[in-house]
Amino acid sequence: MKALVKQHAEPGLWLQDVPEPETGPGDVLIKVLRTGICGTDLHIRSWDAWARQAVTTPRVLGHEFVGEVAAVGSDVQDIEVGDTVSGEGHLVCGKCRNCLAGRRHLCRSTVGLGVGRDGAFAEYVALPASNVWVHRTQVDLDIAAIFDPFGNAVHTALTFPLVGEDVLITGAGPIGIMAAAVARHAGARNVVITDVSESRLELARKAGATLALNVSAHGIDEAQRQLGLKEGFDVGLEMSGRPEAMRDMVDNMTHGGRIAMLGLPAQEFAVDWAKIVTSMITVKGIYGREMYETWYAMTVLLEAGLDLTPVITGSYGFRDFEAAFDEAATARSGKIILDWTR
Ligand SMILES: [Zn+2]
Ligand SMILES: [Zn+2]
Repeated sequence: MKALVKQHAEPGLWLQDVPEPETGPGDVLIKVLRTGICGTDLHIRSWDAWARQAVTTPRVLGHEFVGEVAAVGSDVQDIEVGDTVSGEGHLVCGKCRNCLAGRRHLCRSTVGLGVGRDGAFAEYVALPASNVWVHRTQVDLDIAAIFDPFGNAVHTALTFPLVGEDVLITGAGPIGIMAAAVARHAGARNVVITDVSESRLELARKAGATLALNVSAHGIDEAQRQLGLKEGFDVGLEMSGRPEAMRDMVDNMTHGGRIAMLGLPAQEFAVDWAKIVTSMITVKGIYGREMYETWYAMTVLLEAGLDLTPVITGSYGFRDFEAAFDEAATARSGKIILDWTR
């Protein structure tokens, strides 16, 4: 089968013929239909410091996908050949304290699909049945392909109660934009999102942000004034991993404000801890999705009319992966889809 492979420990990706994945009695073999390109995949293509320590070659990339079940192992129940499925990209150990307690998203031995084991940028992918999410209601295939990052957005946005609250989101990448849509849908009063890319801010406006602010030209305090906020934001969703964004956020929170932080900083940085203490701010790190509470929430949010279509800005056949990755690497794009059927 064809697959996008990190074949060599150097920048680049290679479209290659590889054997179909092997499956055991508890596994599901999935014919991949569409995949989403993630920042993680861009790091692995460019072979930066993170990728060099996280990935061994050769490795099939990709963790955001939708596909059709092609075969199920003898122990698999409730998943049928022909089902439309996506996959939870974090494979957990099942044995650590958190796994045993049912808090699988807190597993300390998580292996990433397309990072620590062969992934979904291929004509077929195999997963344990416990990592397969069956779409039991009609879902747009492009949206189904990005359930993994949509789950990051939902997990982060719904970490703290939002109803009637004023929400600040720093970083209008695809996950920040989806989080803005989720926050509005879930009943936030104002959702302010910041970035330095005008085209991404425009996507965030389409997705429902109350105010999309270019922080290269305007301070977040200006947004507060414009919206009539007097005491700062109640909930912060940090999506950029940028030191200046986290500092801006801390500066603009209300006393007792709560920050969910998904953006992954590239290195250590300083923040005003005295302000976090005296403003009594809660900061919570978010990684991945809750299995499977987040997946349930995603499905019902879509059923209830949440519209994510503005976040998808490009679609390519898998043979045009170089152009697709180049577009995904710009600061302009939303989510880019690779289609494995054309
Ligand atoms: Zn991803
Ligand atoms: Zn575990």
